[in-house]
Amino acid sequence: MADIIVVFDFDKTIIECDSDNWVVEELGYTDLFNQLLPTMPWNSLMDRMMKELHELGKTIEDIVEVLKRTPIHPRVVPAITAAHALGCDLRIVSDANLFFIETILEHLGLRDCFSEINTNPGFVDEEGRLRILPFHDFNKGSHGCPGLCPPNMCKGVILERIQASLAEGNKRLIYLGDGVGDYCPSLRLKEADFVMPRKNFPVWDLISKNPLLIKAKIHEWTDGEELEKILLSLIETISFEKNAAAFISTDYRLPTIPVSALPKVLPVQQ
Ligand SMILES: [Mg+2]
Ligand SMILES: [Zn+2]
Repeated sequence: MADIIVVFDFDKTIIECDSDNWVVEELGYTDLFNQLLPTMPWNSLMDRMMKELHELGKTIEDIVEVLKRTPIHPRVVPAITAAHALGCDLRIVSDANLFFIETILEHLGLRDCFSEINTNPGFVDEEGRLRILPFHDFNKGSHGCPGLCPPNMCKGVILERIQASLAEGNKRLIYLGDGVGDYCPSLRLKEADFVMPRKNFPVWDLISKNPLLIKAKIHEWTDGEELEKILLSLIETISFEKNAAAFISTDYRLPTIPVSALPKVLPVQQ
């Protein structure tokens, strides 16, 4: 089922929390974070926070240890593993960063399930400090989206690139997300696609305000258990429809059976 592309947001979709907040909170620097937040974009602030943590003696190992404890619903890992085993092409589009995402996915044994991770660059520099850079370098200009997207990333632009890269054929997309940033890509999905907004989260609120703006079919979910159930049933439905379409397109005709050849209904012997 490489004809099905499943695009996941990461924070509060795959994992239960926001990875940026989780790391800052667990290392005990929420006050500093909140103090600096009004002064710069979120993505720049995360890079700044990593500088502060480094100067205060926090190591990469400290960060990795926190990331390994990231909360995740117990049904999410089986859902991802099953979708991958069914042959779906799984990708991530996230405003977290590559270091956090890869560390968590590797810890969960999921890294190889994903063919692509679109996120902000994150790497350890020669001084052992984690650097977090913008996916879209907004100092060089805007990504051009006038919507609700942050300056460093428009997930809609990324989704359009994914759509354009797909070879001809009836590729179907399933998009899962929770945040404001997941609204822009949701608007760009096609009629044959599916969007799975997390119920009572910002993207669900935005979609619910005017569902007619969304061309894709909408399937809300609340937790990892529903995520698993709905995602796997959508994959099953798409696979069934594809098989049915292939069956019809082969121009196969059912043989005509004369009525006389059909078994007669016999009365039940008393
Ligand atoms: Mg999210
Ligand atoms: Zn956008």
